[in-house]
Amino acid sequence: SEFKAFSLLTSIIERLNLKGYIQPTPIQKACIPLLINGNDLLGIAQTGTGKTAAFSLPIINNFGQNKTEINAKSTRSLILTPTRELASQIMQNIDDYANGLGLKTQVVYGGVGRQGQVDAIALGLDILVATPGRLLDLIETGDINFKSLEVFVLDEADTMLDMGFFNDVQNIIAKLPKRRQTLLFSATMPAEIEVLAQAILTDPKKVQI
Ligand code: AMP
Repeated sequence: SEFKAFSLLTSIIERLNLKGYIQPTPIQKACIPLLINGNDLLGIAQTGTGKTAAFSLPIINNFGQNKTEINAKSTRSLILTPTRELASQIMQNIDDYANGLGLKTQVVYGGVGRQGQVDAIALGLDILVATPGRLLDLIETGDINFKSLEVFVLDEADTMLDMGFFNDVQNIIAKLPKRRQTLLFSATMPAEIEVLAQAILTDPKKVQI
């Protein structure tokens, strides 16, 4: 398949074939090489464009190739998304693509018990998918730290703003190490998101679909 051109791990290509993905979508074509290369990214794209695979395949590929020690209660990557539906969808997709690679993943959101989430994070994670409220709660109780963080994805930034999560998002970002790869996705670019993008991205590549 055309995904071979990205030199992704064989097991990832096999998972994509199994899912019936023949061609990368335009956002995947544009983003995957930039992200494998380590660039920061501003992605202006809606849900339905294939953006989940665009940001998650490079993370899975990188961590599948380069295993490192992960601090207890920490994670190598954080994907922040506004709703629990989006969070669980993203987690399902990632677990599907990453099948067989032995990555530790977890999703956290509010409205469900926190102990299972705390126990999973305690072991150290490769990929954490989270909604802002529960994540802040876990930060405040000391159940998560970002000592091992390498990649931060802010998904649906404009929806975060619309839902009143902007302060929470900013409080979370303030806890992250400055040295990291950052990806920001938004369907629209209101002034607040422009300002945030300027503040958190370093020499970003811009992809607009
Ligand atoms: P997303 O925009 O990430 O929510 O993805 C929208 C839908 O497209 C999801 O159901 C994905 O499973 C599917 N999808 C993502 N990438 C591809 C692809 N390259 N080929 C076919 N379907 C895809």
